[in-house]
Amino acid sequence: MLVDSHCHLDFPDFEGELDDIVARAGEADIGYMMTICTHVTKFQQVHDVANQFENIWCTVGIHPHNAGSEPETSAETLMSMAEAPKVIAFGETGLDFFYDHSPRERQETAFRAHIDAARETGLPLVIHTRDADDDMIRILRDEHGRGAFPGVIHCFSSGPELAEAVLEMGLYISVSGIVTFKTADELRETVKSVPIERLLVETDAPYLAPVPHRGKRNEPAYTAKTAAKVAELKDMDADAFADATTENFFQLFSKAERS
Ligand SMILES: [Zn+2]
Ligand SMILES: [Zn+2]
Repeated sequence: MLVDSHCHLDFPDFEGELDDIVARAGEADIGYMMTICTHVTKFQQVHDVANQFENIWCTVGIHPHNAGSEPETSAETLMSMAEAPKVIAFGETGLDFFYDHSPRERQETAFRAHIDAARETGLPLVIHTRDADDDMIRILRDEHGRGAFPGVIHCFSSGPELAEAVLEMGLYISVSGIVTFKTADELRETVKSVPIERLLVETDAPYLAPVPHRGKRNEPAYTAKTAAKVAELKDMDADAFADATTENFFQLFSKAERS
């Protein structure tokens, strides 16, 4: 059984289809899913999805794209929102200097508030980083120096230096369908070097559908395609890989209980 550690089931792409999507995930042996918050102002709808299904959890946080448009949110506010039983992590948060949809200082301020909340509560961070490796390493090292916090770099697409730095800080690395893309040789090399104890898999649905669904709407059932590719890179059979990454999910997101 696999876990889709990162999807966006509250997005309009899935409206009216959640029962079918969760059923198809079950048929593909995706036992659990974590649906990810991108706007604190839309937390309620993310939380509603998690409350509808026993095997779905959620996060609370502000995507770096929205750091400029969402209200500035303190660690305390994030922590109180995370008291709800289905909320098992903070994020997604981080830096996106590829799109630069929000001013970089606002992205950093929001990211640091999420880190504070994670350090304070012990709930992990779901970190988004794109084209920002140097600043990501700078902020993580600086914050790590003030006290450790758990977390994962989701949809890992950065270079080997970032992978090495985050592994050193005890963080996990989650791999999306990008790993199945023809052009992702560098990523495949990096993934080979990540210890199996630190790997997770995800869809980031509705985005980034793995081959052979590339270009179509992604959904949690397709986690299996990504897992098959990563298992091959790690030279593991599919069942052992599924067991290991599911175990990792529950190690990291320790507030989640298996049903
Ligand atoms: Zn992301
Ligand atoms: Zn996401």
